[in-house]
Amino acid sequence: AIDSNFEQNREQVGEEDGVAVWGPVEPPEKQGIRGTHVAVDFDICLADGACLEDCPVDVFEWVDTPGHPESERKANPADEDQCIDCMLCVDVCPVDAIDVDPG
Ligand code: SF4
Repeated sequence: AIDSNFEQNREQVGEEDGVAVWGPVEPPEKQGIRGTHVAVDFDICLADGACLEDCPVDVFEWVDTPGHPESERKANPADEDQCIDCMLCVDVCPVDAIDVDPG
């Protein structure tokens, strides 16, 4: 499961399309955690897609991660600012790759 204390345990190494990237990142095998309020551990995500289907405000969008051992696309929390803290994505993710931190 995603480390819910990632902000303490990891370093932010950058930002992609306005979404924070928390390391370590060593493509293609290591993609890090993406997002802060809504965080997705790309190294756990296996592209199930339930979060994209169920999020009422369409926070997630696919990004390609060719060569990653778990899946070649990931659910990026591109619109995490829209999140209404319903926790559906956390509940439906089959591998607990998502952490939502209600503000
Ligand atoms: Fe979307 Fe709800 Fe998850 Fe926020 S908690 S990203 S609103 S499904």
